[in-house]
Amino acid sequence: MARTDAIVLGAGIVGTSIALQLVKRGVSVALIDRAGVGEQTSYGNAGIIEGNTIFPPAFPTDSGALLRIALKRASEANYHLAFLPQALPWLLAFRAASAPNRLAETARLIRPLYARAVAEHEALMVEANATQYLRKTGWLKVYRSSRSFSALQPEFDLAAQFGLPLQALDTAGAQALEPSLNPVFAHAVFWPQAASVSNPLGVTRAYAARFVALGGIMLSGDARSLHRAGQGWRVETDEGGVDARDVVVALGPWAGDLLRSLGLRLPLMVKRGYHRHFRSDGNARLSRPVLDAGPGYLITPMEQGIRMTTGVEFAARDAAPTPVQFERLLPKARELFPVGERVDDKTWLGSRPCFPDSRPVIGRAPGFAGLWLAIGHAHWGLTLGPATGRLLADMMTGTISSFDAAPYRAERFL
Ligand SMILES: Cc1cc2nc3c(=O)[nH]c(=O)nc-3n(C[C@H](O)[C@H](O)[C@H](O)COP(=O)(O)OP(=O)(O)OC[C@H]3O[C@@H](n4cnc5c(N)ncnc54)[C@H](O)[C@@H]3O)c2cc1C
Repeated sequence: MARTDAIVLGAGIVGTSIALQLVKRGVSVALIDRAGVGEQTSYGNAGIIEGNTIFPPAFPTDSGALLRIALKRASEANYHLAFLPQALPWLLAFRAASAPNRLAETARLIRPLYARAVAEHEALMVEANATQYLRKTGWLKVYRSSRSFSALQPEFDLAAQFGLPLQALDTAGAQALEPSLNPVFAHAVFWPQAASVSNPLGVTRAYAARFVALGGIMLSGDARSLHRAGQGWRVETDEGGVDARDVVVALGPWAGDLLRSLGLRLPLMVKRGYHRHFRSDGNARLSRPVLDAGPGYLITPMEQGIRMTTGVEFAARDAAPTPVQFERLLPKARELFPVGERVDDKTWLGSRPCFPDSRPVIGRAPGFAGLWLAIGHAHWGLTLGPATGRLLADMMTGTISSFDAAPYRAERFL
């Protein structure tokens, strides 16, 4: 039987960042996963460290878009009909949280955490020898219709209030940044302070290696074996049981499996998403992630090639993959950029763990002494991993934090 001060369950970007922040504070930590470090949701994302996030992705209000989604013609969203009855309460709560006043409130509540996202990553990358993955080249979003561009005004107003720089560009201005883009769009917005990484898996692995170098212990085990042991908790691993006073649940889209078994029910849903890798035709290249806002997909340069990620799919986490969005969006993507052959025949499926108000839960699990939660990072878990790690490690060690934890309390759902 081993004993540590803390156990972190889940070695995605969130759990690994927390574990690293804890060992840096002198806490002994076992980081436990049943798979390899960073190989799940944290592997397949678009690699954007999006500290500029103002409004989280919202429920569509445009009736045309809703109709296209309902008729399964939209490239930006897909759904499994059989999943909708079960998802309905969550979807209604998500729609309510997407009202303009609620979105503006969310933008203010989440700003402090996002504001630190790039700096917190960069600090960990420096000590983990992972700066080779970091690109501080911003994020470009292109808009094919003037209507969708005009709808950005509330976001621009808040960006000005928050002091976030942006550049509204015409087609030529965007092509000056990304010469391989074809002029199929009328407007673009460049967010210079966003960063991105060329290999999200490499980043999480580097943080895990740094964690081990500082004395952290990596173990293989099933988080669902968690149970009370005396005043603390025990998890069974391949190396035997591990006891700790504190346990952090950072299981991404699988967190609900464990929490339900403990009797803690939180409205955690998944928005599934896919990626594929492509070559570029000819000499075409990208220097940064590019969002094609209307069709709702993203292309981003990765070590494997151009990674194309889809928008959302509302379906059960474990349902069979249905990557139909690629057929709908590929013609659009080929208009915008010389997308070449596929690098391989793999289609990756991941599940964004989401609460309906688009805020993660970071903090104590209500009613469970020594149990901590870091879940629900939704569209921006890669972005928020290190900032979440700092906030939770501060809370667990009683350090006065520069972050306000109140917006992330689980109690808001109870
Ligand atoms: C298509 C797509 C694009 C995205 N693009 C971006 C982006 O550009 N920028 C960004 O910031 N975010 C992006 N995201 C979101 C981001 O990837 C997630 O929010 C983030 O990876 C969640 O990290 P996590 O550590 O919470 O979860 P995970 O990475 O899933 O980690 C959870 C870990 O728990 C482990 N686990 C689960 N169950 C058990 C168990 N029973 N026992 C032991 N271990 C267990 C898993 O093996 C896994 O390693 C994207 C997501 C998708 C799907």
